[in-house]
Amino acid sequence: MTLDYRRKFEIRHRYDVAVIGGGPAGVAAAVEAARNGADTLLAESSGLLGGMAASALVGPFMTCYDRDGNRKVVGGIFDEIVERTAALGGAIPPSETDSPSRYTSFITRYHRHVTPFDSFALETALDGMVKEAGADLMLYTSFCDAVVNEGNGKIDALIFSSLEGLWAAQADVVVDCTGTAAVAAAAGAPTWKGGEDGAPPQPGTYFFEVDGVNDEGYVARPKAPVKAYMLPGGGAYKINSYRVFGVDAADSASMTEGTVAGRKQVFKALDVLHGTPGFENARLSQAASMLGVRESRHIRGKYILKVSDLTEGTVFDDSICCFGYGMDVHPRDPGLEGKGNFKIEVAPVYTIPYRCLVTETVGNLLAAGKCISAESQAAGSIRVMPACVATGQAAGAAAAMASLSGTSPSRIDTEKLISLLRSHGAVTCPADIAD
Ligand SMILES: Cc1cc2nc3c(=O)[nH]c(=O)nc-3n(C[C@H](O)[C@H](O)[C@H](O)COP(=O)(O)OP(=O)(O)OC[C@H]3O[C@@H](n4cnc5c(N)ncnc54)[C@H](O)[C@@H]3O)c2cc1C
Repeated sequence: MTLDYRRKFEIRHRYDVAVIGGGPAGVAAAVEAARNGADTLLAESSGLLGGMAASALVGPFMTCYDRDGNRKVVGGIFDEIVERTAALGGAIPPSETDSPSRYTSFITRYHRHVTPFDSFALETALDGMVKEAGADLMLYTSFCDAVVNEGNGKIDALIFSSLEGLWAAQADVVVDCTGTAAVAAAAGAPTWKGGEDGAPPQPGTYFFEVDGVNDEGYVARPKAPVKAYMLPGGGAYKINSYRVFGVDAADSASMTEGTVAGRKQVFKALDVLHGTPGFENARLSQAASMLGVRESRHIRGKYILKVSDLTEGTVFDDSICCFGYGMDVHPRDPGLEGKGNFKIEVAPVYTIPYRCLVTETVGNLLAAGKCISAESQAAGSIRVMPACVATGQAAGAAAAMASLSGTSPSRIDTEKLISLLRSHGAVTCPADIAD
């Protein structure tokens, strides 16, 4: 049975750039686009900016250094986010942390120089950055659908659901930072979920935080897979623990089942913690409001970042950022719960080309963050937050350039894009890395 439901929408505004999703990528995209003079919308379905770092309580920011933890390879808006959060007393700069330590749950590999942060301080810092940049911030606003012009293949209008009902907006360039490539899928751009070979997405995890911990007594990682990352100030920890397998983050029924299963696991993880030295008196201080989702849809862009690009450290002509974190691919099979993640070593530094942000078929759509065009294993690295901020900043700059020069994102001058990003502190290629 079907229902043909039609109605007229108010087109509220025509923006230069519309960014959908206010996670690490979306915030960076909106801030960068607005700072470059674009009339910018940032629409976020929840009441919080920060994405997984806010609603799912995920943290710390994984390393922004190279593979071996020697040189910092991410800058720009990521640095500002850390500074602004630290100014609220809610973050420790990565230069001041090292591993193994309580900040890394005593893990060393790929974990040198993480950034511990407090989620509320982060959310408040991000509010300030977006508002000061002048973007039009709309929380409690979900993107529902895209109206695509059949003639030129571009998105003509975006349909939103807000507290007051449905409305529409137009934008020269749309940046999909939903983490699930929701805009790309609605607009008919090619996407795939999980592994490009049909493997299910990486499992999710329900994060929570505890306080009342005796830091001095905490001297070794809790029993796997439970990990405890000390928060700024000490005595309190973010807990990453069991996995929820086979969840489709673009399907509410699947997310509902996964969320219910994840919440139950919090109590199992608390039991493990109570048997861990230092955590005997730990109390649950807060739990996430949603299941943490590691992987969903990927866009099929002009280029698909390959595992071999990460292992060989490919430097692309249109490279917009550098990264060195390992391919953190959690087992997709419940039988492998507790097994290690980093199977393949990456080069000390690799780069991400702009082409991975450009959708193949929809002329005015870019993507940033964890849903960019990358093989699933490679996405195990680029999905962590410093890289999402870096691709977000690049997408925001590119979207503003395209809109203000009246061209499409695939036609912008990438040399100009790279020099613009450099002038805003981004580390776009290995030559930019300070010793
Ligand atoms: C369990 C787990 C552990 C992790 N551990 C770490 C870690 O220790 N360190 C680290 O750096 N990274 C970690 N990550 C990875 C990281 O948190 C995410 O990959 C990253 O947040 C992705 O950023 P993003 O901006 O692409 O998307 P997200 O953070 O997913 O943000 C997407 C945003 O879009 C919004 N949105 C979605 N759909 C719509 C819509 N239709 N309309 C409007 N808004 C919409 C969402 O509400 C959300 O705010 C972890 C992830 C998980 C799940």
